[in-house]
Amino acid sequence: MSAKIDWDKLSFAFTPTDFMYINTCEAEGPWGTGEIIPFGDIKISPAAGVLNYGQGLFEGLKALRTKENEIVLFRPQANGERLIDGAKRLLMPPFPAEKFVEAIKNVVKKNHDYVPPYGKGSLYLRPCLWGTGPILGVAPATSYTFLIFACPVGPYYKSGLQPVKFKITPDFHRAAPHGVGHVKFIGNYSGGLQVSRAAKKEGYSGCIFLDAREDKYIEEVETSNFFCVVDGKLLTPQLGSILPGVTRDSIIRLAREKLGLEVVEKNISVLEAQKASECFCSGTAAVITPIGGIHYQGKETTFNNFEVGPVTNKIYNLLTKIQLKEIDDDFGWVEVV
Ligand SMILES: *Cc1c(COP(=O)(O)O)cnc(C)c1O
Repeated sequence: MSAKIDWDKLSFAFTPTDFMYINTCEAEGPWGTGEIIPFGDIKISPAAGVLNYGQGLFEGLKALRTKENEIVLFRPQANGERLIDGAKRLLMPPFPAEKFVEAIKNVVKKNHDYVPPYGKGSLYLRPCLWGTGPILGVAPATSYTFLIFACPVGPYYKSGLQPVKFKITPDFHRAAPHGVGHVKFIGNYSGGLQVSRAAKKEGYSGCIFLDAREDKYIEEVETSNFFCVVDGKLLTPQLGSILPGVTRDSIIRLAREKLGLEVVEKNISVLEAQKASECFCSGTAAVITPIGGIHYQGKETTFNNFEVGPVTNKIYNLLTKIQLKEIDDDFGWVEVV
């Protein structure tokens, strides 16, 4: 293990590691063989497509250390496939999913000293696909870079599952119908900073975005997907302008196939969510975050007395135990590096 890091002090701040992966190609491809190089700054043209017109995507996944000291990944192929969907949407050359998984594994192996000990966090992997070739008019870039860097991060909860509260914002939208909300497009994120900061100043953990057409239905919780339990059914917003989370998909399958719950993917109005018995949000970084309360236009609603609900708890246990190979992985989701 690396002596460079105090594992108990890990947060979600950026910490550099030793190596990164880089690959490049021309507009029509094909991608090169790719290489692992020392982590560091890269050279880029000021006229790069990604800098001027935002032709870029990112991904996020984690490598974890199990009790048996194996290093594992959770559904990396799904991240590779989502990156392909995004590349097609933004006219970038898709990076093959099998090569994506192989590159991820190489980055983890080369930085294995930075995978925190069991229970102390994870090695967060950040794949990026950018139009790096110079262009002037709005058009696809002339060449592309695919890069993966890694960063050790602490556990989201140092003291177990902790419910948080969010503010629903009717004043800003994250994504529009038929837009790019369904891909991990880099331009989707800084537009939410202002409203997120405002919510945090008022004591919330962040904000929940509503749909841009009717300003009525819950879309997402910043960078995680929304779930709630109403009349014993697990509800989650349907796909469309939301980001199709790998965690979201895993939760839907676990709830249906392991817990026998009815799961409904549909429009969830704020009114309906306010009647929920429990709520949570999901994503790679936060895994599952219980939502103890929401604020909407002056009204505070509390769920399950601001305690972790039974469904949330069951799903959390199933998911995290599968991820750490502590129970059977019937879906074949976990890959040993
Ligand atoms: C990445 C992301 C998620 C979560 O996706 P996972 O694959 O579960 O990590 C949810 N919403 C948004 C907007 C995201 O960017």
